[in-house]
Amino acid sequence: MTDGPLSKVFENIEKSENNLVRLCQDLIKFPTINPPGNDYKACVEYIGNRLKNRGFNIEYVRAHGVVGDCADYPRYNVIARYETGRKGPCVHFNSHIDVVETGDGWTKDPFAAELIDGKIYGRGACDMKGGLASSIIAVEALIDSGIELKGAIEISGTADEESGGLGGVAYLAEKGYFSKDRVDHVIIPEPLNVDRVCLGHRGVWWAEIKTHGRIAHGSMPFLGDCAVRHMGAVVASFEDKLYPAMAARFTQMPVVPEGAKQSTLNINSIHGGQEEGNAGLPAPCVPDSCRMIIDRRFLVEEDLGDVKSEVTGILRELETSREGFRYEIRDMLEVIPSMTKRDAPVVVATTEAIEEVLGKTPDLVCSPGTYDQKHIDRIGNLQDCIAYGPGILELAHQPDEYVAVEDMVNAAKVMASSAYKLLMK
Ligand SMILES: [Zn+2]
Repeated sequence: MTDGPLSKVFENIEKSENNLVRLCQDLIKFPTINPPGNDYKACVEYIGNRLKNRGFNIEYVRAHGVVGDCADYPRYNVIARYETGRKGPCVHFNSHIDVVETGDGWTKDPFAAELIDGKIYGRGACDMKGGLASSIIAVEALIDSGIELKGAIEISGTADEESGGLGGVAYLAEKGYFSKDRVDHVIIPEPLNVDRVCLGHRGVWWAEIKTHGRIAHGSMPFLGDCAVRHMGAVVASFEDKLYPAMAARFTQMPVVPEGAKQSTLNINSIHGGQEEGNAGLPAPCVPDSCRMIIDRRFLVEEDLGDVKSEVTGILRELETSREGFRYEIRDMLEVIPSMTKRDAPVVVATTEAIEEVLGKTPDLVCSPGTYDQKHIDRIGNLQDCIAYGPGILELAHQPDEYVAVEDMVNAAKVMASSAYKLLMK
């Protein structure tokens, strides 16, 4: 399909299929579960050793002192940089190495990385070690092609994306690794499907709401004040007011899947009352406290201040209308929406590359959840950034998560072609 220098690169990638499979399997076999942040050092050293042998300059950066960093679970990152020796821009491929817990429901061993009918199964196969493997093979094939490339190529394997990225991309951006001084274009091989380009993501606000009551004997609840009932009133108000208001708001951001084109609110957890004892016995008391965690996803058209005051407004109203209602609210996480322009160089290059490799024009989408683009945008001040990778979005964090080998091969071709276009301009 492609003439000229890229045909050699694509041929290299096709010949490397077994190599790509093995690389992906090796990466999955590191059980880099986060939390707690297991096995990071071994995983980044594996990546570093491989790329060092290919002429990359390797730096290991531990995020000393961030949340979670400790002797047992050090937050290690690797940044590998390949200098072509010719002046030009830098294309950076960033993948997180951490995976979420396995959970129940698996029919395969989550860390055996079995290859069955063209699919590699395992925790992190889709999100996002398949993407990381594709980017490494893409860059190796470009280098091996003998094309006189310009500029530099970087590949990073970073920590803690699944817990917010503070020990990973945020830390590296603060240290200048993601900055205009050394990086021009960023591709994050997150699982957004092999035939789509992801421009960014919605915003996030996590908050903890507490209601208070007064403890009393459970046989005489009228002598106490039930914090769980107060929290029930909060949930009822959300149902009456907040959910209908959010359901009426749609975004112009091309968020997928369709349901995520709206504002959403998840109630992550509610815990109230005295803890049950070891034998599962509840205490016979009126609960004097209840705690709820909410996860509000907001749109580029919404203002974070308005999003917050919509919730605090409901709490204040209950304070006046409901006897004994006392509350506290605490911010836990804030992420502003991020969206790269549709005509940005990395979007244009990757769109053209997908057309070459897959023969179709990709949909430009936004992710329902956030990922490390927020730190690259906000801290690194790099706006030429997308997510593009071989994983299927809906499989992320699921039992029996997999990545298709064919999608990895195609994604590697797209990444190689996109990097080539960006470097040779
Ligand atoms: Zn991910």
